[in-house]
Amino acid sequence: MATERTLSIIKPDAVAKNVIGQIYARFEAAGLKVIAARMQHLSQREAEAFYAVHKERPFFKDLVGFMVSGPVMIQVLEGEGAIAKNRELMGATDPKKADKGTIRADFADSIDANAVHGSDAPETAAAEVAFFFPGLAIYSR
Ligand code: UDP
Repeated sequence: MATERTLSIIKPDAVAKNVIGQIYARFEAAGLKVIAARMQHLSQREAEAFYAVHKERPFFKDLVGFMVSGPVMIQVLEGEGAIAKNRELMGATDPKKADKGTIRADFADSIDANAVHGSDAPETAAAEVAFFFPGLAIYSR
């Protein structure tokens, strides 16, 4: 399987719960390397732009409101099959349906406050990495 990069966000609920380190430990245990990272309080405009694919969905306004409610931790993960591996670690969108032992099962409270974001395909991963980390601030190793 090819080495891939994927964009991960630890959302405001999980940052507020002080579980950034516990989530990073899961990435590392699964063989994913953090090759870029930044804590940031997103603006309304940034959150709307990032989630533009969802702008016609009924939950869009609440999703954007939630994503600007506090700081998030944004990282690029690199590794073999990183996109699918990160999605596996995250678990289903709705934490009630997420497999036992996944990040969302363990740390998320609801379908909207669901702890983490992860790119879902190679095209979205490339676009999302470029959205938050244009240029050179990536340390592959
Ligand atoms: N979301 C929501 N209500 C829904 C579906 C999604 O609030 O009914 C939010 C949720 O935070 C989710 C995000 O919108 O993580 C993006 O939805 P998507 O279907 O892409 O889920 P994901 O890829 O994050 O599992």
